[in-house]
Amino acid sequence: MTRHYDYLAIGAGSGGIASANRAAIRGAKAAVIEAKAVGGTCVNVGCVPKKVMWYGAHIAEAIKYSSAYGFDLEQKGFDWSTLVKNREAYIERIHGGYKRGFENNGVDYIEGFARFVDSRTVEVNGERITADHITIAVGGRAMIPDVPGAEYGIDSDGFFALTERPNKAVVIGAGYIAVEIAGVLHALGSDAHLLVRGDRPLRYFDHDITDALLERLKQDGPELHTGCVVERVEKGDDGLLTIHCDNGESIGGVDCLIWAIGREPATDKINLEAAGVTADAHGFIRTDKYQNTNVKGIYAVGDITGEAQLTPVAIKAGRLLAERLFNKDMPDAHMDYSQIPTIVFSHPTIGTVGLTETEAREVHGDNVKVYRSQFAAMYNAVTPHRALSTFKLVCVGPEERVIGLHGIGEGMDEILQGFAVAMRMGATKADFDATVALHPTSAEEFVTLR
Ligand code: NDP
Repeated sequence: MTRHYDYLAIGAGSGGIASANRAAIRGAKAAVIEAKAVGGTCVNVGCVPKKVMWYGAHIAEAIKYSSAYGFDLEQKGFDWSTLVKNREAYIERIHGGYKRGFENNGVDYIEGFARFVDSRTVEVNGERITADHITIAVGGRAMIPDVPGAEYGIDSDGFFALTERPNKAVVIGAGYIAVEIAGVLHALGSDAHLLVRGDRPLRYFDHDITDALLERLKQDGPELHTGCVVERVEKGDDGLLTIHCDNGESIGGVDCLIWAIGREPATDKINLEAAGVTADAHGFIRTDKYQNTNVKGIYAVGDITGEAQLTPVAIKAGRLLAERLFNKDMPDAHMDYSQIPTIVFSHPTIGTVGLTETEAREVHGDNVKVYRSQFAAMYNAVTPHRALSTFKLVCVGPEERVIGLHGIGEGMDEILQGFAVAMRMGATKADFDATVALHPTSAEEFVTLR
């Protein structure tokens, strides 16, 4: 007999898990299928292990500047493998939590690789399973460029599989992952290099923020190489790599090369054709605002849609989809993809929500007013490390509604969330000004901008 569900998610990453749990909570008979590890990219090879490594880097930086706070420390060493072991044990506990959550909610967790048989049926481990509603939440994977010697490099999954600290590492790419990994490697003691094709990493971010990031990279590292398009990678007899760029620059003696040039959708093996679902030229499954694909009863959430590739986005989209399908009080539930706040876990962190100044001026012209502040966070100010934080507000119209908020500085990762709420509520500069500052914090700069 064929198993039948009301709701089936393919992929137990952030979107698949959230949608299946919510569907079950709303009374649906739900299942989720996963070929690798429960939790998907975020838990296993993304946000979670990244943040643990970032905390490790944060401690390394604190030790570096601790003497200014009166500490006389002798650092005997740093054991990368201990950090990795504890990180993986933590991830194991998260796996357990997810599985208990499925049990509590009554979601069936099926291990195996799912392929569509038709628009209502998938095959997994030789068994056919049918469902009224099927969500594709299979996520993505790192891209590797087509250049000679590219295979000597690893991707972000490979970074998390490292059991020892690299001596000399080159990270190629200009997005979140490249900036975050290069920063962690540098802080943890590798000779780390970040190679970008353009004049800066994160070039779509507000330029005041990336100008400040460039300043920090110059002061603190990792070493930034701009205008470098990698032409080939060579491996020497000693096993070390040399990376050759089209601008004549070469970097040799490299024992770890990491590609972080973007991610592609993982739709190619699930037999989408059998279901009649169409993907775009890159393989992303584009949906309408209700996460509907072109086939009735088949939906897509998360990185596979090509929309903001962020865990909280996948979770929210997945939950709202389940509400729309199984909660009669929420027939119009859908994700609002505007004003999504994000953090880059650089050193220090970058936080951003809403429009950059450039984007705002393109839309609103001279109606835009910008407020910015550069200041030394107190944490740094008492050390020889006098690095500056940069905070910025982008406002529009005579009422000065805040439509963009950007910052790079210590604590920015924890500062942003509340301001993102205020912006969703339509906060104006006057609302910011009317809010009493928290002193002494970095966050208070946002309510005292002149
Ligand atoms: P991104 O798409 O963010 O950035 C990749 C960048 O690499 C491109 O924008 C491009 O920048 C550069 N690039 C592309 N091709 C090449 C090439 N052949 N050689 C050199 N550089 C190249 O990808 P990531 O892999 O960094 O991250 C994927 C997604 O994961 C992100 O978009 C983000 O949504 C998510 N993520 C979020 C995190 C967070 O929230 N903290 C952390 C990590 C990932 P340019 O054109 O300027 O050269």
